[in-house]
Amino acid sequence: MIYDTVIVGAGSAGNILASRLTEDPTHRLLLLEAGPDYPSRQSLPEDVRLGFGSSAGIIATSHDWGYAGEASARREEMPVPRGRIVGGSSAVNAQILLRGVPQDFAAWAAMGNERWSFDQVLPYYCKLEDDLDFGADDYHGDEGPIRVRRYPEEEWSPDQAAWAEACRRAGFSECPDANRPDSTGVGPFPLNTIDGVRQSTAITYLAAARSRPNLAILADCTTRRILLENGRAVGVEVERGGQTERLYAEDVVLCAGAVGTPQIMMLSGLGPAAHLREIGVDVKHHLPGVGQNLRDHPTVNLFWKLKFKPANLTHWHQVALRYTADGSDAANDMIVYTGATPDLNGETEEMLFVRPTVNLAVGQGELRLRSAEIHDKPALYYRYFEEPFDRKRQREAIRLCTELVEEYAGFRSLLGPVLNGPGAALHDDEALDRWMLAEADTGHHTSSTCKMGQPSDPLAVADQSGRVHGVEGLRIVDASLMPDSVRANINATVMMMAEKIAAEMVEGN
Ligand SMILES: Cc1cc2nc3c(=O)[nH]c(=O)nc-3n(C[C@H](O)[C@H](O)[C@H](O)COP(=O)(O)OP(=O)(O)OC[C@H]3O[C@@H](n4cnc5c(N)ncnc54)[C@H](O)[C@@H]3O)c2cc1C
Repeated sequence: MIYDTVIVGAGSAGNILASRLTEDPTHRLLLLEAGPDYPSRQSLPEDVRLGFGSSAGIIATSHDWGYAGEASARREEMPVPRGRIVGGSSAVNAQILLRGVPQDFAAWAAMGNERWSFDQVLPYYCKLEDDLDFGADDYHGDEGPIRVRRYPEEEWSPDQAAWAEACRRAGFSECPDANRPDSTGVGPFPLNTIDGVRQSTAITYLAAARSRPNLAILADCTTRRILLENGRAVGVEVERGGQTERLYAEDVVLCAGAVGTPQIMMLSGLGPAAHLREIGVDVKHHLPGVGQNLRDHPTVNLFWKLKFKPANLTHWHQVALRYTADGSDAANDMIVYTGATPDLNGETEEMLFVRPTVNLAVGQGELRLRSAEIHDKPALYYRYFEEPFDRKRQREAIRLCTELVEEYAGFRSLLGPVLNGPGAALHDDEALDRWMLAEADTGHHTSSTCKMGQPSDPLAVADQSGRVHGVEGLRIVDASLMPDSVRANINATVMMMAEKIAAEMVEGN
């Protein structure tokens, strides 16, 4: 059978596209996923269903690609989790549903993507959500598949309440709704966790579309490469049950995420020519930007011993702090996550973690392939904190967070000694930089490895609708398409992008 569209990757973006495109009953769509499928809520394993209440913490290894990345010159290997399951990373993530700020989209527009200004993306942020706290207003929707709520202050756990109070006393403003475009300061995180259940795109968008006869879902099916004929994508080559198969479609859409999509592109001969030759792949079309421009939100972990037992099923991140670094002209370029982690399986201590994070880093990294074999995991070079401005902001953030925790009396009854921190290096810039580089960690927001932009931009891989430059019938719709990161956790933005491009595709664009 020849499908109208084959989508590779049933994650945040893939499930939204599949759901929207099959609203037209004549559109025959095939959705492919390397990981397993749990088709009903009842069949969902505990780690997927209860993101913060399961004994696996927020992600179990059985649903993870298990990538490793080089964080910095002083930390050569760190785990980089990514969901490998129908639901993708939306089925293993921390469920913070925060939007980018208007200036993020002004920057995207200035990079040659004038159809992505804030005014043009706002309707799609609203379309995807059902905000249970604010309902429909100028900035919110109440009809979308993703339910969003915030913990009211009376439900905050003791550590989150103490953190909020410490921030208020330090002069940060109140922020009741972090999804308002002009918001900043301290307040509850918007979360897509409802009654402890993670609202992935699998149990929301895809669940509502599964029974459509024009939608076929093939799980446990790894896409190896795109089939190309005369400069046009005509289908994909997959591996399923130990067999190789070819599946054909009028259009191919890659939604395999910021690691999977550039990998499949390069294995199909679409990428930087010299690198493809190095790994023995025939070059079909030279696209130097594939794998470049790797973005994330670099962070470090500060830990204190807890004196109390965190409650089960309570979200660790209830309260956010966002602020603008001294000397920065980028509003909300810093974010701090805190949370009390339980003792998982008797293997870890109960801890308060504080993660100061650069939410719009100057630095960028690179993704490269190690070989032409799909099962060889790509090499991820993040190069966190190489840029002096990223280090400066992070040094100040580490100092600020240490002060907020150690000087607020309300923490004393809750916390024991520091378990991880810079110690004496705190007050010495060079020593603190060395500590930061050794402790650098992923913010879990890998993106931008196949960025959109004008054909005149040599590193742009696709146009503003995700159509790959120089190849017919091939689109990219996922985190890899972002031209830069946004000042927020990126799941809401990836979902917004999928809604926006789906609407264009439905209109025939
Ligand atoms: C641990 C963790 C916590 C996070 N917490 C948050 C958070 O709280 N808030 C937030 O906003 N963001 C969070 N994120 C990030 C966010 O969830 C992701 O950025 C987002 O889900 C990416 O969407 P995507 O569609 O680009 O890719 P994904 O959702 O990852 O989907 C890609 C899909 O493609 C499949 N795939 C890949 N390669 C192939 C192949 N060769 N063949 C077939 N299928 C393939 C994958 O298995 C996957 O299902 C978190 C991420 C992680 C890992």
